[in-house]
Amino acid sequence: MEIQYVIINFLILLILLFIVGRKTVKRLFGGRYERINSELDRAEEIEKMDMPTLVDPSAEVICADCGDEAEKAQSLVTEKIASIEAFGEREKSEIHRNMIQDARKELFSVMKENVVSLFSYEKYLNEIKELDRQVVDEILKRISLTPGDMAYLKHQEVLYVTLTSAYPLPKDIVDDVDKATTQMLDTVGGKTSLWVLEDPALIGGLKLRIGDTVYDGTVSEELYQFGKNLNCEPILHDDTVGHLIQEFTEKAETFKPHIHQYQLGRVMTVSDGICWMDGLADIMYGEVVEFECGERGMVLDIQQNRIGCVIFGEYEHIESGSKVRRVGRIASVPVGECLLGRVVDAMGNPIDAMGYLPYKETRPVEFKAPGILDRAPVNSPLHTGIKAIDALVPIGKGQRELIIGDRQTGKTAIAIDTIINQKGKDTICIYVAIGQKDTLVAEIKEKLEANGAMEYTTIIAVPASSSAALQYIAPFSGSAMAEYFMYKGKDVLIVYDDLSKHAVAYRELSLLLHRPSGREAYPGDIFYLHSRLLERAAHLSDELGGGSITALPIIETLAGDISAYIPTNVISITDGQIFLDAELFNEGQRPAVNVGLSVSRVGGAAQSPSMKKVSSSLRTRLAQYRELAEFMQFGSDIDDETKKTLASGRLLTEALRQPRYAPVEDDMQTILIFAVSEGYADGISPDEMERFEKDLYRYFREEKAELALEIKQANKFDEELKNSLKEALGEFVTRS
Ligand code: ATP
Ligand code: MG
Repeated sequence: MEIQYVIINFLILLILLFIVGRKTVKRLFGGRYERINSELDRAEEIEKMDMPTLVDPSAEVICADCGDEAEKAQSLVTEKIASIEAFGEREKSEIHRNMIQDARKELFSVMKENVVSLFSYEKYLNEIKELDRQVVDEILKRISLTPGDMAYLKHQEVLYVTLTSAYPLPKDIVDDVDKATTQMLDTVGGKTSLWVLEDPALIGGLKLRIGDTVYDGTVSEELYQFGKNLNCEPILHDDTVGHLIQEFTEKAETFKPHIHQYQLGRVMTVSDGICWMDGLADIMYGEVVEFECGERGMVLDIQQNRIGCVIFGEYEHIESGSKVRRVGRIASVPVGECLLGRVVDAMGNPIDAMGYLPYKETRPVEFKAPGILDRAPVNSPLHTGIKAIDALVPIGKGQRELIIGDRQTGKTAIAIDTIINQKGKDTICIYVAIGQKDTLVAEIKEKLEANGAMEYTTIIAVPASSSAALQYIAPFSGSAMAEYFMYKGKDVLIVYDDLSKHAVAYRELSLLLHRPSGREAYPGDIFYLHSRLLERAAHLSDELGGGSITALPIIETLAGDISAYIPTNVISITDGQIFLDAELFNEGQRPAVNVGLSVSRVGGAAQSPSMKKVSSSLRTRLAQYRELAEFMQFGSDIDDETKKTLASGRLLTEALRQPRYAPVEDDMQTILIFAVSEGYADGISPDEMERFEKDLYRYFREEKAELALEIKQANKFDEELKNSLKEALGEFVTRS
């Protein structure tokens, strides 16, 4: 009986909920739904509308005289290139590119002059004046209040509206604008104050500014857009000035003023690469802004009355009071296969004198890291080719392994060797050099080229001399470039060399942005800075393509102090660290991996079964040896057992030595470590280890290739395999 009551009660409740809930939901969402629909309809209508054509000057008129300029420029180019016959291809193409760029600028200024003089003809002038009416109607159809305007109106009563034209406007146009804007503001209970201005620099047409939003239907704006698009056009190897003329004529044919909409702000102060602005009502964090001089910046601070941004380029030409406009996108960099083999700056512009980067896609520099469900466990190895690392602190694809150590302890060397070892392994590498010397980057590039590693590598070079803003953004750009490949299902290795300098650059920016400083004068969000960067390294699940980003951040310590602020931060973010010991390095034990302090928290799952088995006791044996060796410095009485442990420990340490640029395959590493730890090298002196190692590799490569392959691919390092390896090693030892 009771159950029946419960069911009946439940049904009544459901019906009640349906009746009451339906109305509430409708009330809540109905209004919003209708608003969205009407906005969409309006947007569609605007799309369909025909743009008024201000003027239709023929391409010939606009490009008049361009031909003469072009011929002059072409002869200059030919002359210059002929005079530098002695230079290499690369220098020649660089000069060619620069000259074409100059010629383009020259042509553009001729074109501008032509357009200006065009509008001094009575015929065109009248034509354009007649069209003012159409432009105004068009603008009035588009105007609306932005969220920024609404927010402004909450604190202020009046929203300023400015109507600017090249020539005096008839009264009816001004009245219409006044009426339309007053009406629009009435709906939200605000007032307008209309200013009517004249500015001959606009050449023709008019623009309306409401709050910070500008609806621009002027000829000068069209010219500006034309020039901007032109600068983005690639300069190809076979471009001549003849091509340029053609390009200009084609473009000029489609030169028809449209109505451009953008938001404006004003520069308040500029100093040390930081600019404070006001206006730009709807700007977002991370958005790109453009200054009048053409430089760009990125918004890093939004306060109620002012907006702080970092300037990417030179800030000497930015004046206080000058205009700044929203570009309408978040800072992003070019991505794609075209970046492989190239050296680029923090914004992805090529700096290797190899010309234009033919990219098709860009990605935002800041991007959300994959969530838990998007990730798969780290389960396949990323071999570094360095014995001490692959055996003791193995790295898996998708892992973040920190390389940490004092200065000049071989941190960069490990990263570069790992990149070289990815040859033929279908892994893309990105090396981000932050605050490094230019000569070092050039040297690294040369070495990578010599080892055939540049084909699959991109270098992002931000030298110590570049601004803090660029140093700050470089690792994020690298991450964006890596993500492109990861989401395509590929494996990527990214090296951040080094994050200590990155932290310093960020501290500089934060202090200049007047943010409160915390421990060691770093801002409070420095942990978040590095964690959001390193979280972007991941091994994606199979549904997302199974790609991965393995990150090797580098941190420099002072006198081995890993408990300083930045080292502890990054240690806690990463999945392990390779600690390089200055003492070991100076003793000549290179790579100077400190076995006791180095760990890999997920890498064990990513080792081959044979290597895992062979290296399982290596760590304790090495630690034991170092402890004993230190202790024995003081004593002379050593029993036989200790002597044996010391000798074999010494041999093992010796076997882990490795020169630069000499990666060893995984199977050979396994065989060597097995041979030494099982005592097959006991007869030799430590100095002979190098020869022993070489002979061993040769023997297994040439005579026991099958066994080596078996060791590499075996699912289990069982007794049978162990015995055949022992047999082969016995044969090798008796022979040598
Ligand atoms: P910095 O702190 O200046 O960035 P670093 O820690 O990155 O230095 P590296 O530049 O990689 O160190 O190396 C320092 C020096 O040690 C270089 O001259 C390099 O050639 C040498 N070196 C590094 N690793 C090895 C190695 N395995 N064998 C021999 N020499 C090495
Ligand atoms: Mg270095």
